[in-house]
Amino acid sequence: MRDETPILLWLRRDFRLSDHPMLSAAAASGRPVLALFILDPLAEAYGAAPKWRLEQALAAFAPALAACGVPLVLRRGPALAVLRQVLAESGAGAVWWSRDLDPAAIARDTEVKTALRAEGLEARSFDGQLLFAPWAVQTGQGGPYRVYTPYWRAVRGLTVAPPLAPVTALRPGPVLRGESLDALGLGRAMRRGGAVVAKYARVGEAAAQARLERFLREGIETYQARRDFLAENATSELSEHLAWGEISPRVIWHAGAQAMAEGRAGAETFLKELVWREFAWHLMFYYPRLATENWRPDWDSFPWAGESAAAERWRRGQTGEPIVDAAMREMYVTGRMHNRARMIVASYLTKHLLTDWRIGLAWFEDCLIDHDPAANAMGWQWVAGCGPDAAPYFRIFNPASQAEKFDPEGRYRRAWLAEGNRHAPQTAQDFFAAVPRSWGLVPGAALSAPLIDLAAGRDRALAAYAARPKTG
Ligand code: FAD
Repeated sequence: MRDETPILLWLRRDFRLSDHPMLSAAAASGRPVLALFILDPLAEAYGAAPKWRLEQALAAFAPALAACGVPLVLRRGPALAVLRQVLAESGAGAVWWSRDLDPAAIARDTEVKTALRAEGLEARSFDGQLLFAPWAVQTGQGGPYRVYTPYWRAVRGLTVAPPLAPVTALRPGPVLRGESLDALGLGRAMRRGGAVVAKYARVGEAAAQARLERFLREGIETYQARRDFLAENATSELSEHLAWGEISPRVIWHAGAQAMAEGRAGAETFLKELVWREFAWHLMFYYPRLATENWRPDWDSFPWAGESAAAERWRRGQTGEPIVDAAMREMYVTGRMHNRARMIVASYLTKHLLTDWRIGLAWFEDCLIDHDPAANAMGWQWVAGCGPDAAPYFRIFNPASQAEKFDPEGRYRRAWLAEGNRHAPQTAQDFFAAVPRSWGLVPGAALSAPLIDLAAGRDRALAAYAARPKTG
């Protein structure tokens, strides 16, 4: 006899209909379903821009799901308590979700699974966030990888399953009341206001697909050669969609693999970048403190500086180092930052300003609409020198020469710095309009004096590195 008990689908960071294992399984089951998003303490703790972007993702996804026959119910509260409440109201006998491998999410989900199963309910988790579960890729000795290149070789040898067809219809379960999206207030934490970032964000599954198609049409061939140039639109811009599950990594992988099979330049480099994301989650799974502790414990004795006026100037894009300030402003206004720029500003903070990488990580977490806990933590530890497979500490990016090399005509800097430019482009004007008055920025005034002379900063960083007490 067919199981007629409704399934409660708990959506978290998987806002798409295509290649969605949980939704496909729900459709195939023929059982009635309810769909729920919970603003729980874990989501409450997201940074301001991620929360705003989550609101956008929910606004785009709810009508798509409704078109399949099922409304998305929004509730607030501790996950387990809300799930129990909804189970009681609806008579559902199962809770399904897509795995989120953030350590805090794993802890929450383990608690939920244990509690529900103890009550005789079905609690089931699905893949979908990654190409491969972190534990599915192992070294010859059976442990996790610590270095990217062998990890990449291992992944290259595996088969990525083909994407699943989009779900078009689900059998609706009982109708429940929920809160409105406005009432959840996800956008409120962003003091500069959503309108600033909204101009630059693209939201939803259709936008993700359009970006992938644009990239395959116009970008992939030049990806390897041009992706480091700061003023160019030479990358896929898919990170904000991956962060919220608006596109699956398998769809991207197969599109890139197809391009590679057609002999298109740049395709392999692109696939390798996608696998950096996998590697970050692999590391985070096996080292859940990746975002909070030095991966190499011998760095624990390094004399990083804590909060300071210099760190605040860095956050505000007022270091006086043009490429650093341009990048920090790009992030403040668009919620994104070019990858090369992320490396330049991270190096400047951790090396020229000798500041703890966790201060930079936290600001990125607050500002990025593509915030990804694993990629962010790996990126910061990599640049700071204390992470797995990290850049050696003595590799200190020189912001001035990086600017000459990757922004040779100054287009990127002009786009974001209005100082000394009475006809600043809209981008730079957007930044000046968005910042609080207390930041004291005046368009047309000169750029502030550099916080530190680049050569002196480099020497100071190298001296601190040489003098650091060695442990372990
Ligand atoms: P593309 O160049 O088109 O690459 C395609 C995809 O591959 C990306 O969308 C992303 O999912 C993945 N990818 C590319 N480069 C990396 C990388 N270095 N590490 C991990 N995955 C990568 N990426 C995030 O998605 N969220 C973050 O919070 C984040 N924080 C970072 C912090 C620092 C200090 C650094 C150095 C890098 C960080 N990155 C982060 C990685 C990278 O900068 C972005 O993924 C990239 O800029 C996104 O642009 P794109 O989608 O056009 O990338």
